[in-house]
Amino acid sequence: MEVVIIGAGMGGLFCGALLAKRGVRVTVLEKNGTIGGGLQTFVRGGETYETGMHVAGGFNEGGILNSLCRYLGIMDRLRIRPADMMLSVTYADSGRTYDIPAGREAFIDYLTAKFPHQKDNIRSYVDAVFRVSHEEKLFYLESMSGVNDHSDEFFMPADAFIAKYISDPELRAVLASVNPLYSGIPGHSPAYIHIMISALFMENPCWFEGGSGQLAEALKSVIEAAGGRVLTRCEVASVRVEDLNVACVVDKNGREYRADWYISDIHPASLFPLIEGKAFTSGYRARIESIPDTASAFKVYLKLKPGTVRFPGHPVSIVDSMENAWKMADYDNLEWPHGVNCFFGEGSGGYASHLTAYCLMDFDDVSEWENTRTGHRGEAYEAWKKERTERVLDLVEKRFPGIRECADDIFASSPLTFRDWMGTRRAGAYGLFKDSTDIATSLIPIRTKVKNLLLTGQNVNMHGIGGVPMTAIETIQTIFADESVLNGIKGELSNK
Ligand SMILES: Cc1cc2nc3c(=O)[nH]c(=O)nc-3n(C[C@H](O)[C@H](O)[C@H](O)COP(=O)(O)OP(=O)(O)OC[C@H]3O[C@@H](n4cnc5c(N)ncnc54)[C@H](O)[C@@H]3O)c2cc1C
Repeated sequence: MEVVIIGAGMGGLFCGALLAKRGVRVTVLEKNGTIGGGLQTFVRGGETYETGMHVAGGFNEGGILNSLCRYLGIMDRLRIRPADMMLSVTYADSGRTYDIPAGREAFIDYLTAKFPHQKDNIRSYVDAVFRVSHEEKLFYLESMSGVNDHSDEFFMPADAFIAKYISDPELRAVLASVNPLYSGIPGHSPAYIHIMISALFMENPCWFEGGSGQLAEALKSVIEAAGGRVLTRCEVASVRVEDLNVACVVDKNGREYRADWYISDIHPASLFPLIEGKAFTSGYRARIESIPDTASAFKVYLKLKPGTVRFPGHPVSIVDSMENAWKMADYDNLEWPHGVNCFFGEGSGGYASHLTAYCLMDFDDVSEWENTRTGHRGEAYEAWKKERTERVLDLVEKRFPGIRECADDIFASSPLTFRDWMGTRRAGAYGLFKDSTDIATSLIPIRTKVKNLLLTGQNVNMHGIGGVPMTAIETIQTIFADESVLNGIKGELSNK
């Protein structure tokens, strides 16, 4: 069997590696010079920066990512470092900081000490998080066969889920502090995404020492070891469909690639214009094109002078005010940003080598420059970017006073940078938005009307390390029409 995969993001590479493990010859086609998509890293001034993924989870003994990577034979080569707490969040107006520890009981104990009147509520909330997370069967390597009913809590809005258990408004805000990791919109973001992310990072928050790009390289090595190929600078320009089957895909240089199965890891709205021939109904295309994207990202990178900022060993979030806990992705332009997430690179002697300050930003904020290219966006754009960079740094200074003076290089990337890196419509950081008020429209099936074309990646189900690898397992199981991949991964778990 041969499989061609469009896009070497986390979804495409996990699919490729899982197929390679089963002896399938895989060709992955990537438009960029560097593989990884949201796992990509880049080097500037000798420092390695991550473009997308900063925090991970599930790589601990017995964790799903650990089992999956052991099954693929790459766990030993990944340099995973546990974070020393789940998250430290500071509210700038009150100066209050919550150092939220990792580990279920430590999490409960800490918040109970801070909010003693919510003692029972906190335990009920955490119990509910783990109970509902079990409804996502693959997250626990459980069989997906049989009836997969979901409770009402699974699809209810995330803010309503928190409010169902917690009556204290301040504690609600603290529990919502993971919402930038899913571009949370109150009343719309489904509880299951909040739950999966909270469960993953509460149990085992971790980061990639040296950058997330190592995961992409490790997956590539599995594909190549089985005789497959991961080709860079190989942008797919068309997907030829005949009799509801892909006949071949063609890259920008006119090279054709033929296979038994084709998997698309790219944004569906980027896939549709590539299709040549009769494939999808106009209703299907219109439905998917009507789904909005999650917010995009504005990031400020600071190369830190050696010995100036202690390396925290965990993510730090700074929010202007508790009242704005749900306004990271839904803001008034004049007030942006309400919050910033800070991720640090580890330098030597216990100091940080760099800081990435990450804020959600809507693509509309840059739409007036959407037809420009990197380096040629004009003075107005450069002035706008500088002004937004200063706003981000002002908020970072609330927790790290004098941070500007600690940096010897400061630069930024905007939603336009992300659009060009990932090749997506509106640079949604986490792909298509899943809306609890219209969940049937939000969820896209892996199978398509084109019989040998499957979809994978963050647009299909959940984004991030807690979602994309699970969707890859599901995609590969669709090809084999059995649960042998899942059983193989479970075997790794029981071999320990
Ligand atoms: C700023 C940011 C921060 C994030 N932080 C975290 C985090 O801390 N933790 C976490 O778990 N997740 C995080 N995420 C989410 C995570 O990075 C993504 O969910 C994940 O990487 C998406 O993988 P994917 O394979 O679905 O898509 P992508 O990574 O978008 O991969 C798609 C690939 O297809 C390629 N491509 C596009 N068009 C074509 C074409 N025509 N031909 C060939 N190739 C093409 C692209 O170049 C890309 O490499 C973050 C994302 C962003 C943007």
